[in-house]
Amino acid sequence: KEELNIIQGALELRTKTVEDVLTPLTDCYMLSSDAVLDFCTMSDVMQSGFTRIPVYENDRSNIVDILFVKDLAFVDPDDCTPLKTITQFYKHPMHCVFSDTKLDVMLEEFKRDAGKSHLAVVQRVNSEGEGDPFYEVMGIVTLEDVIEEIIKSE
Ligand code: ATP
Ligand code: ATP
Repeated sequence: KEELNIIQGALELRTKTVEDVLTPLTDCYMLSSDAVLDFCTMSDVMQSGFTRIPVYENDRSNIVDILFVKDLAFVDPDDCTPLKTITQFYKHPMHCVFSDTKLDVMLEEFKRDAGKSHLAVVQRVNSEGEGDPFYEVMGIVTLEDVIEEIIKSE
């Protein structure tokens, strides 16, 4: 039965999309780009338990960087280093995908170029309003979310 579930899950990668498994923006643990890496902020990051933390500018839907917790290894909280100093030093590439990307394609992408980060920012084209269509950030997706879809037992 377990095996059947996994096969079922693997087959569904072709029909399900990133939108089905993403973590919505409202649930994302993020930092503002003007944050200062003082003791308070650094303990908060540690306590979040996440390894990759999107960094936004002004608005939570405007993700401009990804902070890796391991980037903090040489940061002394007493120095109150601006977060920007760290993100500009490491400059991790940010991967974006469209929300209608099929999970099998997403998995390939994680194996290929997103291979070093295993996190992508999910966008969609919003053409619902009166004005011109615009890109809208919906949330984030990680390799874990795709794997979860394969091995989940329903
Ligand atoms: P790792 O397991 O590589 O240490 P992690 O535990 O930080 O990383 P993942 O295992 O990649 O994160 O993902 C676990 C779940 O948490 C997924 O559903 C993913 O979408 C979600 N997630 C990852 N990063 C964040 C974040 N910064 N804020 C909110 N949810 C996140
Ligand atoms: P993350 O991607 O969550 O930042 P990581 O890059 O340290 O973690 P994984 O992505 O989990 O490590 O694993 C990548 C590969 O490196 C795997 O083949 C794993 O077995 C191997 N690996 C992980 N930790 C070590 C280690 N301490 N020494 C040698 N190989 C390791």
